[in-house]
This record gives sequence, structure tokens and C-alpha cells, in this order.
Amino acid sequence: MKPRKIPLRKCVACQEMKPKKELIRIVRTPDDQVLIDLTGKKAGRGAYLCGKLSCFQLAKKTKAFDRALKQQVDAAIYDQLEQDFIAVEEQFLAGKELADDEAE
Ligand SMILES: [Zn+2]
Repeated sequence: MKPRKIPLRKCVACQEMKPKKELIRIVRTPDDQVLIDLTGKKAGRGAYLCGKLSCFQLAKKTKAFDRALKQQVDAAIYDQLEQDFIAVEEQFLAGKELADDEAE
């Protein structure tokens, strides 16, 4: 059996390459909103982040989204995203466990 190719993406905070499903996607939509995209399918320029709050906080500190999304992101938006990130983190981890169960 050929090993399946796993698409890797780089976390904008810690720069580690990880499988896409282990990363949370942040997207800049065509109308310039910056959102967390749990589906990974929203249109727009995306940036990837490990599903860890520590990586989010690092990204916030270094303004990694400004670079990754090629747009200046207000501190207020980082704050909003941080709250959203905390809210989705549990959902994200739960979803990942679910996916792992299915794979077995
Ligand atoms: Zn990371």
C-alpha cells in the first residue's frame, strides 16, 4: 500500500510543519474580515496555527497574522480572535479525537 500523502502546513507562530488537520486555519475573507475557519474551506487568504493557545499568543505577540495575511490586523481583532480561539480550541480537540477514532 502506498503511503497517503499528508498535506503539511506551517504554523505561523512556531514555524513547525504539521498535517493540516492538526492546525487551525485563520482566514482573511474577501471582505477583509479576519476569522477562525474551522472548516478550512472558507474563501480568502489563510494562515495556519497549531491548535494550542500558546501558539496563538505567540502569533499575537509577534503579529504573525499581519505578515501571513498581508494585512495590518488591529490589536482588537487579535483580542477577538483570541477569545474565539479559546472557544474553538476545545471543539477542535474534540473533533480531532473523533477523526482519530474514525481512522481506527
Ligand atoms: Zn505552532
